[in-house]
Order: sequence, then structure tokens, then C-alpha cells
Amino acid sequence: MINPRIENKPASSKKDETLILDDLNFTPQGKRISELEDFLIQNNEPKYRATQIFEGLYKHRYKNWDEFTNLPIQLRTKLKLISEFQEMKVSHHLVSVDGTQKFSFEIAPGKEIEAVWIPSGDGDRKTICISSQVGCTLNCSFCATGTLKFQGNLKTWQILNQVLTVENLVGDRATNIVFMGMGEPMHNYKEVIRAAEILNHPKAFHLGAKRITISTAGVVPSILQFIEEKQPYNFAISLNQSDPNTRSEIMDINKKFPLNELILAAKKFVDVLDRTITFEYVMIPDKNMTDDHIIAMARIASRVGKCKFNVIPLNTSFHGWRTPSSEEIEKFVAKLKIKTRVPIMNRRSPGKEIGGACGMLALERKEVQA
Ligand code: SF4
Repeated sequence: MINPRIENKPASSKKDETLILDDLNFTPQGKRISELEDFLIQNNEPKYRATQIFEGLYKHRYKNWDEFTNLPIQLRTKLKLISEFQEMKVSHHLVSVDGTQKFSFEIAPGKEIEAVWIPSGDGDRKTICISSQVGCTLNCSFCATGTLKFQGNLKTWQILNQVLTVENLVGDRATNIVFMGMGEPMHNYKEVIRAAEILNHPKAFHLGAKRITISTAGVVPSILQFIEEKQPYNFAISLNQSDPNTRSEIMDINKKFPLNELILAAKKFVDVLDRTITFEYVMIPDKNMTDDHIIAMARIASRVGKCKFNVIPLNTSFHGWRTPSSEEIEKFVAKLKIKTRVPIMNRRSPGKEIGGACGMLALERKEVQA
């Protein structure tokens, strides 16, 4: 994972491949009600039991068939034979002084992902940042996950189990979920959208769609699919550079989907869905914080319309880049507010010392603790 002491990031040799990590026996976890109905019908059981199973999993949070006392014992016995409950082991758990907690999960031997529990200062907002892939095929220059070998897409149940396990271990419920952990969510679109649906479902987690944020580094075709399908979830684009000529230095994906195409997709999102889109912007001194960058950001804001910027200080030190000082951040944010006239959220970096802050997921635990 993230290693703040790595100065030069290795070049990526990863291919855009898709692997599914498991396909063992049928698991009820991560399935829609309609999929559970199909399974029950195939096994000569009444389909109305699907809703009871779905609620048992995500509302009541039962962990094995024995806990499903809402089902007849004969059915429970049969389900034990024809399906399998999956588990993810927490391999590491780090707690920060600011209340942030980072959890590493072992998906399979040698395959780990991370999720981060982020309580707000006033305790009103409790966010879980979850992963969608093991490693990442992209290579954003500030991000430690991008240095990892890509090892596969997560299944829906593996995405949801991060939420269930984190909530269980911290003894609290999240108010917000962000798909901003390891991986590019749009490269695992189907499983991510199904996970969001279950998070949103009134018979499951029942989180409002506006409390679920899906992000992308800029996979334009998937943004267009998201718009076409009128997905109700919050949407964020990791912009990170407003200069079209140098964006590829930070965001490798810009070579495939250049800034102009990305902005057109963002504008389409706002026009078609009539909703605000968020731009994430990692502040890197001498790279993307000059007055010219601010002017370019203002131009983007005026082209897109309903948008806001979340600005985040750089947390890693790849390529000799450094974290901006508080003074640099203040100046940048003040100018940005004046020029763009859109909301600017100056996000802190909770969990930095445990390697749980933005861009840091993937730092080796020993490096973080050193
Ligand atoms: S920032 Fe996100 S998309 Fe970019 S390399 Fe890191 S995990 Fe992948």
C-alpha cells in the first residue's frame, strides 16, 4: 500500500484486465432480491422467502443460516447444503488519534484490500471509504494503490462485507459510504452498482442515494452509462489537474480520455440528471495550484454548471512532490472561491498517520508505522 518514503513511483506495466475473484458455490450475499428469488425457484422453494433472506442479511445482519429464525428449519437445513456463506478476514486494524480507523481484509492469500472508517469532528457524519478492486489498473501519480499489481475485481458481497465488518467492529453505523478506496469503481461497474443498490435498498442498509458516492478517475464511457441509467447516487470525478496539456502527468487515464471529453461528460451529467457533480482535486504545490490552474478550474466550473470542488492536500511524496503548507492551502482555497463561485470543500486528511488518508491506501503497514 502507500509508502510515504517512496520517492519515485515505478512505471505501470498493468493491463486493463478483469478478473472475478471467486465463483464458488452459490452465496446469498451480495444478491438482489430478484436473484435470490430465481435461486429459490430453481430449488423448488417459494420465492417470497427471498425477501426474508435479503432482510436477514442486510437489515438484521445474520451471519449464518442458524440465525435466520424467520425461515422454517427444513429450509435452513436445505440452504446450508446448497449455498455457502462467505467471510472476509480482517488482517490488520489501525486506529488513528483523530478517530479514523483503517481495516485491511485478506480476500485470498496475498490479496488484500482496505476500508477506512472516518468520523467527522462533530461525530454527526460517519463515512466508510470502501474498495472496489484489489489493486488498480490505473496509475494516478500520487496514489499508492496505483503502484500495486492489479489482482482482480471485488464481488458485490466483498464490497458490502467491508461495510458490515467495519460497522460491527466499531460498534456504530455509517451515515455515508464513498467508493474511493482501492481501485477504479467504473472498472467494476456491475458489482459496484449492485452494491450501491443494496446499500440504498429500504429492506437492506437503507442509506439515502445522496449518502452514497461513487467516484472515477475519468472513465468517460462508464460516466455516460451512469447517466444513461439515471443512477441516483452521488458522483465524483478525480480531476486533480485543470491544465489539459499536463493532466496526464498526474492522471494517466487522461491519455485515453482527455480532459475535454471528461468535462463534456460531466456537463452531460449535470444537464441530463439535473444534479451537482463533485470534482476531487488533490493539491500538489508547483504542479496544480498556480493562478493559471485556478483560472482553468473556474472555466471548467462555468462550462459544467452545477458542480463543487473537494480539495485535498497531497498525502504521498512520489516524484519528490510535497504536501502543501496550511498557508498555501488557505491562499489557494480563497482564490478558488472567488474565481469559481461554486462551493469549495477544504477536506482535511484524516487518518494520515495510519496510512488511511486519500492516496495512501496500499502503504505497507510497516512503512506507515515506521
Ligand atoms: S486514485 Fe483511484 S483510480 Fe487512481 S490509481 Fe489510485 S485507486 Fe486507482
